[in-house]
Amino acid sequence: MNQLKAAGSNEHSIRGNRDPMNMPGIESCPLKRTLLFCFLLLSFLLPGLQSAAQVASQTRLGTGRRLKPRVTRNPDIDRIVQEIDARNIERIIRKLVSFGTRNTLSTQDDPNHGIGAARDWLYSEFLKAAESSNGRMTVEKQAYEQQKAARVPTPTMITNVVATLKGTQPESENRIYVVSGHYDSMCSSPTDGKCDAPGANDDASGTAAVLEMARVMAKYKFDATIVFMAVAGEEQSLLGSTYFAEQAKQKGSNVDAMFTNDIVGNTLGGNGVRDRRTVRVFSEGVPTNETPEEANVRRSVGGENDSASRQLARFIKETGERYVPHMKVMMVYRRDRYGRGGDHIPFLERGFAAVRFTEPNEDFRHQHQNVRVENGIKFGDLPEFVDYPYVANVARVNAANLAMLALAPARPSNVTILTGRLSNDTDLKWDANQEPDLAGYEILWRDTTAAVWTNSRVVGNVTSYTMKGLSKDNAFFGVRSIDKQGNRSPVSFPRPLGRPAPAARPAQPTP
Ligand SMILES: [Zn+2]
Repeated sequence: MNQLKAAGSNEHSIRGNRDPMNMPGIESCPLKRTLLFCFLLLSFLLPGLQSAAQVASQTRLGTGRRLKPRVTRNPDIDRIVQEIDARNIERIIRKLVSFGTRNTLSTQDDPNHGIGAARDWLYSEFLKAAESSNGRMTVEKQAYEQQKAARVPTPTMITNVVATLKGTQPESENRIYVVSGHYDSMCSSPTDGKCDAPGANDDASGTAAVLEMARVMAKYKFDATIVFMAVAGEEQSLLGSTYFAEQAKQKGSNVDAMFTNDIVGNTLGGNGVRDRRTVRVFSEGVPTNETPEEANVRRSVGGENDSASRQLARFIKETGERYVPHMKVMMVYRRDRYGRGGDHIPFLERGFAAVRFTEPNEDFRHQHQNVRVENGIKFGDLPEFVDYPYVANVARVNAANLAMLALAPARPSNVTILTGRLSNDTDLKWDANQEPDLAGYEILWRDTTAAVWTNSRVVGNVTSYTMKGLSKDNAFFGVRSIDKQGNRSPVSFPRPLGRPAPAARPAQPTP
């Protein structure tokens, strides 16, 4: 009954917004009592309308399909998720810890101790993973000499271990998805190459997730290319990932998305909260490399919540929670935690979409700390504090997303929203995709205050579409591509085309 009352009270705003896309019937009921009856009837007729809020939202946003009820599953992705094994994750983390330290400044030529031993072991493990790929996965050590820098007292070799699983569709093989963890570690001092630095959580956990994904995914075929990477020099200021991202930029590589997994192994926070079901995904709203012209457009249309990285985070939430339903993806609307950084940042700086995966509640007694006991409290990043099944679940969320990204067509390019004429319709245009298995496109929209896309409409294999009677001023719109198997790309957010954004004016003195 409360629901009905609430529905009745929303009726005003519904009627106030005369929208031809509205559900029929609401405005044809003249009397209040009849209105109540109409709402009752509607809630029977339209499945999924369970709350007044949903009634209001559905009506205001038109009659596209609500996103939630649609569940298309790709059986290969289900298999990949199932094959990820927490026992392998534990074995990898314990092996990495056994090298004593993996500080970037530690010894590089001892076969059993230091970062060099960890590098060589990871290289051999990625090679093993590549055996099932039928030659599609290649493994390399990407190395360079880092000159003296803030956290690098003498010139030091930085080596990334990079396994590339080549895409099998000619139109997509140059589109690249990168997943990384950093295999270097530190104790309390980032420049102490001798102290014990187990780095079980930071970041053997992320490295293990990446290696386990490589093992499982190597035997599957994807349209686009996936790069599984363990980088060094993260604690020295993101050196390894900066090198990879800069090389990618200079080669003009099409890195469509990058995930870093860093500190993804602890489920008991220093705040006493135990949470084994959540992973945080940090994404920036305003692009790090935005130009002043792009900033002006963004301010004029309200695009600060719709960067490519934010669309990637929404994609991860939708896909991750579909394929790993016992995990919740908690989107965090910032680039990284306060005072912290990660390997996604060098990618963002170069214009690549990138996000960071991290556990929900951190325990800072077990990060960047000398191993010791103080007042009965154990400090240090030790394997006993890692929740191995949880790391496996984070790897599953990653793997489902990488698989979907690499199976789906590219996100539509050059998407524009036509603003040449003032209209209550929304005209969208985009370039045609090149993939032979493309089925078509889907328009998505949401309230400007909604966190995730709420409505969608499949519009077929066209390169323009008009949402009749649905005003671009009242909602955010996006377009994604779909292939014949139902795999969907991330959403492309349109830029306005036609009526130019007003130039920023200097502030006027108040009279
Ligand atoms: Zn880290």
